Amino acid sequence: MSVKEVSKKDIYDLLKKITELVGPSGYEDDVRGVVKDFLSMSADNVYIDSMGNVIAVKKGSRGSGRIMLAGHMDEIGFFVSHIDDKGFIRILPIGGVFERALIFQRLLIKTREGKIFRGVIGLKPPHLAKPEEARQVPELRELFVDIGARSRDEVLKMGIKIGDVVVYDRDLVLLNEDRVTGKAIDDRVGVVTMIKAFELIEKNQADVYAVATVQEEVGLKGARTAAFSISPNAALALDVTIASDIPGVGEHEWYTQLGKGPAIKIADGRGATGLIANKEIVDKLIQVAQQLSIPYQIEVAAGGTTDASAIQLNREGVPAGVVSIPARYIHSPVEMIDLNDVANAIKLTKGFCELSDIEWLSRLKGYTIK
Ligand SMILES: [Zn+2]
Repeated sequence: MSVKEVSKKDIYDLLKKITELVGPSGYEDDVRGVVKDFLSMSADNVYIDSMGNVIAVKKGSRGSGRIMLAGHMDEIGFFVSHIDDKGFIRILPIGGVFERALIFQRLLIKTREGKIFRGVIGLKPPHLAKPEEARQVPELRELFVDIGARSRDEVLKMGIKIGDVVVYDRDLVLLNEDRVTGKAIDDRVGVVTMIKAFELIEKNQADVYAVATVQEEVGLKGARTAAFSISPNAALALDVTIASDIPGVGEHEWYTQLGKGPAIKIADGRGATGLIANKEIVDKLIQVAQQLSIPYQIEVAAGGTTDASAIQLNREGVPAGVVSIPARYIHSPVEMIDLNDVANAIKLTKGFCELSDIEWLSRLKGYTIK
């Protein structure tokens, strides 16, 4: 295997750059530009499809067979849905917004012209809240965004309109040499893992397609169409998974822990309705981790799912698995991961692409690749 390694600083720098961009589902433009530039540096070919997915291809030594990697560029967010006479803005969610995370957050609003403004989600002060109210989590429909404007006219003059997109305003910060917290780590960390692994892959027999997907948070949409056009022999989604190794959660519900290595997914979704990962891909990932001495965890997750679910059901079916990065506080502005898990997820992804030979990929797909 290659001796090249990715440092935690490399991972942090790229993660910081792309988590701080505004890129809710369907509006991934800023992220797409940066990701395309990075993938271009180590690809034989890069293109953007009609959905907006970035697809980078690295040719394999045996010129047949295709492995698809998928990491989603989009983040959860909001649309501006109403502007009132006093200049307060109402918003509606894009994806699985967690209402407990909303109160008193600072937000970024991006206009269609590309200007960015800040606002806050306000609420009446504790002095005015009735005791029962103070204990409740308000619904999004009761909340408003205050951008400091005094009237609707002022908001409109700034260029903010209904349909503009909104995300959390949060810098990525290092808490110590290993752990970082910020917004949109779901799933820009999957994108970083993919970019870095793609850069390092050099002994692949099959062609590797690195796909930075769009609209995952609103129904796994970009991955679906990309998988159709690529028609891979095997696919890996790279995404975060639940790490609830925190006070108040019993060990049986931790699912994964920070810093114990990337997780190899067995299944996800409620009642395993998300994905049941292809067993041979699970075995291959375990074998690669053992062979390369990469720490890993095995994951059966209670809820949520990833692009792998959509990819698996493409055409006649695609054997699919997931390399997960354990994350705390998913879908909040303070998502947290351990950079060692990312470094090891990069090694595992690269190892999978290099150690999946054409014969194995053929057998996996149930026919012989010519
Ligand atoms: Zn995700």
